[in-house]
Amino acid sequence: MPNPEVAVGYDPSTMGANTCTIYAVCRVCNTPHSADCNDMKSFLDWYAGKGLAQDMMPGLTIAFRELLISGTCGTCFDKMFKPEEDAFPDLGGVGDGEL
Ligand SMILES: [Zn+2]
Repeated sequence: MPNPEVAVGYDPSTMGANTCTIYAVCRVCNTPHSADCNDMKSFLDWYAGKGLAQDMMPGLTIAFRELLISGTCGTCFDKMFKPEEDAFPDLGGVGDGEL
C-alpha cells in the first residue's frame, strides 16, 4: 500500500492490457518520476494494500520501488545516505576553506 504522504498513481492514458505508466512524486525534491509497469494487476493489488512492493513488483527498479514506498527518489536517497562534501552545510564556518 502506498504511503499516504506520497503521491502515487498511474496514467490511465498509458494503460494496456496489463501495463501502464505509474508515477510517484518525490517528497524531498518534489519531482514527479514515472516508470513503465508491465504488471498492472500487481500494482493495483499493491495499491490496495495486498502485499509488499518488493514482492509484488519485482520488475521495477529498486530506486523506483523506494520512491513508491518512502517517497524518496534515487537522487535524494543517495544524497541522504552517501556522504558528500555539502552533507552538513550548517557545520560550515565562513567560506569554503579547505579541510
Ligand atoms: Zn527527490
